[in-house]
Amino acid sequence: MTRTLLVAGNWKLHGSINMTIDLISSITNGLSANKKYNVAVFPPFVYLSQAVMAADKELLVGGQTLSVFDSGAYTGEISGTMLKDIGCQMVLVGHSERREYFAENDTDVAHKFEAAIKQGLSPILCCGETLEQRENGVTEEVVANQVNTVISLVGIEAFSNAVIAYEPIWAIGTGKVATSEQAQEVHAFIRALIAEKDATIAARLPILYGGSVKGSNAKEIFSMQDVDGGLIGGASLTANDFLAICQQADALSQ
Ligand code: PEP
Repeated sequence: MTRTLLVAGNWKLHGSINMTIDLISSITNGLSANKKYNVAVFPPFVYLSQAVMAADKELLVGGQTLSVFDSGAYTGEISGTMLKDIGCQMVLVGHSERREYFAENDTDVAHKFEAAIKQGLSPILCCGETLEQRENGVTEEVVANQVNTVISLVGIEAFSNAVIAYEPIWAIGTGKVATSEQAQEVHAFIRALIAEKDATIAARLPILYGGSVKGSNAKEIFSMQDVDGGLIGGASLTANDFLAICQQADALSQ
């Protein structure tokens, strides 16, 4: 990955075959022909094959999580090899909803990141603090632990094919967006953390902001020095809302 802007849509537990095909074709039709930024979508597992076909290489496609196992007696799991096999290029790891509702801790997330890298998928490592943690002044400590646990397991080299998404939990799906200064402050902290290990990888690493991004606030956030695009939840489910965000990336990429 390089620091080309990336606009990524996390569909979460939403969709159907029709919605997948319609939404992806509306997005691809609405994007400017020679865009200089990347767009990725993360539909539920069962619609990934349709998504890959509908995207027709115009968009990157990825899973919302993956198994730490590659194959075997692990009922219900989906491996990185399988995601790769059906044409995915990316995968989310450590989304706050996986951490909160599926009890994934920093170590589990690190193992998923490792599984993604081994299969040649680009992981988007999600990190971020709760409102309570921010109010207690431990945002940097929380984010550093989330990122350092991955670095300890996989080594810094693995980040040359990865993306980090800073997603303050208090801003996800709440309509409360971090100010561009708040986002920049944590993004710069993350980049410095990576630079302590490898300055070249840090300079190239895309760091996305996620948390109530909309067409109306995307430009201000994406224009910050260390913000390289966004991970979008709610606004990625409607073509017009998602395209409004892509248009801001378009304007900033010219
Ligand atoms: C997300 O789920 O990663 C997210 C950022 O959601 P939303 O854009 O709805 O806040």
